Amino acid sequence: MKDLSFILNELGEDREFYYNAVAPPVMQTSNFSFPEVAAMRSALQDEFRGMVYSRGNNPTLNILRQKLAALDGAEDSLVFASGMAAITTPILSLVSAGDHIVSVARPYSWTRKFFESILSRFGVGVSFVDGRDIRNFEEAIRPGTRLFYLESPNTLSFELQDLAGIASLAGREQILTLIDNSYCSPLYQQPIVLGIDLSVQSATKYIGGHSDVVAGVLCGRRALIQKIYSGEFMNLGGILAPWSAWLLLRGLRTLEIRLDRISRSTLKIVDYLSRHPEIEKVLYPLHPGFPQYELACRQMKGAGGLFSLLLKDRSISRIEGFCNELKHFQLAVSWGGHESLVFPSCASIRQEDFRQEQESNRLIRFYVGLEDPDYLIKDLEQALDPLP
Ligand SMILES: *Cc1c(COP(=O)(O)O)cnc(C)c1O
Repeated sequence: MKDLSFILNELGEDREFYYNAVAPPVMQTSNFSFPEVAAMRSALQDEFRGMVYSRGNNPTLNILRQKLAALDGAEDSLVFASGMAAITTPILSLVSAGDHIVSVARPYSWTRKFFESILSRFGVGVSFVDGRDIRNFEEAIRPGTRLFYLESPNTLSFELQDLAGIASLAGREQILTLIDNSYCSPLYQQPIVLGIDLSVQSATKYIGGHSDVVAGVLCGRRALIQKIYSGEFMNLGGILAPWSAWLLLRGLRTLEIRLDRISRSTLKIVDYLSRHPEIEKVLYPLHPGFPQYELACRQMKGAGGLFSLLLKDRSISRIEGFCNELKHFQLAVSWGGHESLVFPSCASIRQEDFRQEQESNRLIRFYVGLEDPDYLIKDLEQALDPLP
């Protein structure tokens, strides 16, 4: 990889074209004009490279694309209006009616919904497998299998897949691989370097980093990116606005130091919680107690700010009481910003459907932001105090 400092501060920024301004301009324009017909014709013949219309290329977005591709160790990237657009657009580009996808069992909730409720209407079948064992992928392959869909780790229970192993299986079987790499970001895991074809992340999370923009990114080989760009990307039109791209460029400046701070704080907090008498279990891929700790150490350089825990008291009232008592973890979905968050799984089901024997119902997902870890530990401490 090129130097991280170079990517975040310099790559793609041709400052002499804009008065040597240090911060790049927001090119808030829908279209681009030409001095003569010949130039227009040649740009229209190659919209992948030409500056024609902002549903395709836009200079502010292209600075961002270069940086994001380099971070992933990829040849090229595309940016989208959301992480979900970055997931659904390439999948729609890669499969046709009659094709089959093998997916990890617990992908992001909206990805699962896309597979189950939308792709099924177009005759594309999806098998869900426990991705922790590579043999499950192998056994699920059918004659029409086009794609392995991965998410390692996921963002609630953190199951991992052996990415290099799955990439080589997929290569032998001529199946494409796509991973949702939102949890790690390319700073902590580079799936493309491990042989995965396409890597996606929700840029809403660490890239944006300030809870003020929704966006997605897709990285891969240029030929594959060009195919997706010329087809579904330009046709479905889920593009990012220049102003949002500018916010992501600004977020990138501090990505490395934010992740560094967040990872250190999270490890300290996970350590504290894993010793606490009220806690049954803490799940964090880079904590020695994690079931796939060795694999996590092998393929991840860091683990960021997401972890989950189970309370010893299994009642829904205790879970809700604990979450309600927290003062500095806001009850909210999403993650990756400056602010610490808590999201109890039981909030996504009806109270009467809660089953305490199902671990997934009891999981409480935390995100650690940029606050002082001791400030957050104090808050956890008071909320965990057994009720008088
Ligand atoms: C948030 C998230 C998404 C969806 O991204 P959006 O930007 O909200 O569309 C996909 N995958 C994971 C793991 C996420 O956390």
